[in-house]
Amino acid sequence: MMNVPFLDLKAINAAYRTELLDRLTRVVDSGWYIQGDELANFEKEFAAYCGASHAVGAANGLDALWLALEAWKYQGRLRPRDEVIVPANTYIATILAVIRAGLTPVLVEPDPLTCNLDPEAAARAITPRTRVVLPVHLYGRMADMPRICTVAEAHRLLVLEDAAQAHGACVDGRRAGAWGDAAAFSFYPGKNLGALGDGGAVTTGDADTAAVVRALGNYGSHEKYVHEMEGVNSRLDEMQAALLRVKLRRLDQSAMARRRIAAAYLAGIRHPLIRLPDAGGGAPADDVSHVWHLFVVRCQQRDALRQWLGRQGIQTLIHYPTPPHRQRALAGRFDVHLPITDGIHGSVLSLPLWPGMSDEQIEHVISACNAFPS
Ligand SMILES: *Cc1c(COP(=O)(O)O)cnc(C)c1O
Repeated sequence: MMNVPFLDLKAINAAYRTELLDRLTRVVDSGWYIQGDELANFEKEFAAYCGASHAVGAANGLDALWLALEAWKYQGRLRPRDEVIVPANTYIATILAVIRAGLTPVLVEPDPLTCNLDPEAAARAITPRTRVVLPVHLYGRMADMPRICTVAEAHRLLVLEDAAQAHGACVDGRRAGAWGDAAAFSFYPGKNLGALGDGGAVTTGDADTAAVVRALGNYGSHEKYVHEMEGVNSRLDEMQAALLRVKLRRLDQSAMARRRIAAAYLAGIRHPLIRLPDAGGGAPADDVSHVWHLFVVRCQQRDALRQWLGRQGIQTLIHYPTPPHRQRALAGRFDVHLPITDGIHGSVLSLPLWPGMSDEQIEHVISACNAFPS
């Protein structure tokens, strides 16, 4: 029987093996492992790729989100307990970053079709304490940034993009990371631009925000042994920066491969019980607003479908089985009724999708879905 792993990181990175090893050797031989040329160059290249003026490396995506919020507090643009609007169905990291910054997350129901922040629901959640709206480009699909930015402008809110799943996604010629006042990225190995370890970055158009983020992640210091603020240690190291530079050069190509697989699934999977993800407008293979970090179907018999696919050798995952407001870690924090969010978490299933999947593997997933006994 054909095996289809959910994600084959070994195969993904094997495509870059020679270049990765070459860059690693150069870092090893350089004798410089933190805050060097590889990081400086990666930051320049990543900012240019996103169309943002600045990028600052961080240790991971959670820190990148937190550093952006903390920088705004330091700049006096936010005060403790200010409210931050977040989609309720996000990965818990989004919400943990808000809480760690001493701010108040306000959960809003997503658009049931796209699973992204609903601009109207966000507008309805605004109170006099609201200062930030934090859209998440979930599964690799850009949130409705034109409308979210209009709402934010009308209410003078800061916009922080959680772009951890959407490197390279683009709407109206503007990429994820270039819409908000700042954006946070993760380079966790399984993300679309994945390091060989942890990594993250903040992008912003504001030079002062970039400088504060950089200092906050480096013990509050712009200059060695001069500490302006109570910072932390959250840096992207030279090894990861060097590896990311290699993979960044082929990121658009890998997004194209993801779109091609998504287009095959969208065209091939036909089953009354399996709801395909909304593809937006136009041909999915050409729609650059989606980089298909995940291909998420919905099915009321999700657990049975998952078992069925497992028996056909197809590994699937659930993103995410339990919504943040139902996690023990956040118990008592939210008094909310979120039927759309609960419905999403109870029915979603992520199918295998990674650049390098063979046509046979793609066909096998399609025919196994279509043969799901109902
Ligand atoms: C992965 C992820 C994060 C956190 O990134 P890490 O690098 O794992 O800390 C934050 N938000 C979303 C939406 C993510 O998918």
